[in-house]
Amino acid sequence: MMQARWWKRNGDIISCNLCFRGCNIKQGGSGKCGVRFNKDGVLISPCLGKFCACAVDPVEKKPLFHWNSGKFIYSLGSVGCTMSCPFCQNYHIAFPVKALYEKTIGTSELSADDLVRNVKGSGLNLVAFTYNEPTLQAEYICETAPVLYEAGISVALVTNGAMSHEAARDLLSCLNQNDAANIDIKAFTTETYKKLGGELDTVKKNIELFINAGIHVELTNLVVTGLNDNIEEFAAMVDWIASISDEIPLHVTRYFPARNYNKPPTDIEFLYSLASMAKAKLKHVHIGNV
Ligand code: SF4
Repeated sequence: MMQARWWKRNGDIISCNLCFRGCNIKQGGSGKCGVRFNKDGVLISPCLGKFCACAVDPVEKKPLFHWNSGKFIYSLGSVGCTMSCPFCQNYHIAFPVKALYEKTIGTSELSADDLVRNVKGSGLNLVAFTYNEPTLQAEYICETAPVLYEAGISVALVTNGAMSHEAARDLLSCLNQNDAANIDIKAFTTETYKKLGGELDTVKKNIELFINAGIHVELTNLVVTGLNDNIEEFAAMVDWIASISDEIPLHVTRYFPARNYNKPPTDIEFLYSLASMAKAKLKHVHIGNV
């Protein structure tokens, strides 16, 4: 399972096409995510099928409020991320220290049958790829999905939506309409996305792609003090969501300092005022982390 998909070789360089970054990786080097390597002209990802975080969470914690409400979901996370948010709450696995990275890739790959056993053994029929960026497990998700479906298990992804068009399309072809995704929409300007190591246009296109594929989609906007706490920007984002459908749930969530971003937590009154603004255009607006 170590060999990755979505890449091509140009001489000694491998161009990875899993996410929007399109890293060109020299022999022995890794991409920006830190978990995909050029090893002798082949792109490998040693963390595929290997997880360092596992918990049973309420579905609402993902957050997904309009999909299997009231149920619990078997939740798995691994290492690495395709963005670089300075306030990441899960930075210890998104940007792991060497020891955690090595411990994770040193574990055995979780087979599809073992995953089914774990989920069913917990009395559940839902599994989430979450905590770190789940599209870094895209190959594993595509390989295990048929076995999960056969066992009556549905899949949720909690993603930054930064995958390439090709990877998003291929990943969606492995999922089915009982599945769900919570996609972060972290800001609504190109400049702010750049500060987070992301790309707004890619995320917008992927949100539309997931919705058009019939997957259940909810969106999350973390309102970060001093970064995207801007009424005009928020209003433009809400207008854009409403232009696709006013049925798309939006989670407006409170930021807390983490990693190397130390501005004060989002002002609660301000958060509520943004949510009321959104409620004028969207039918399902939820406030989170308060
Ligand atoms: S997944 Fe993204 S960040 Fe990682 S190597 Fe590929 S293009 Fe680069």
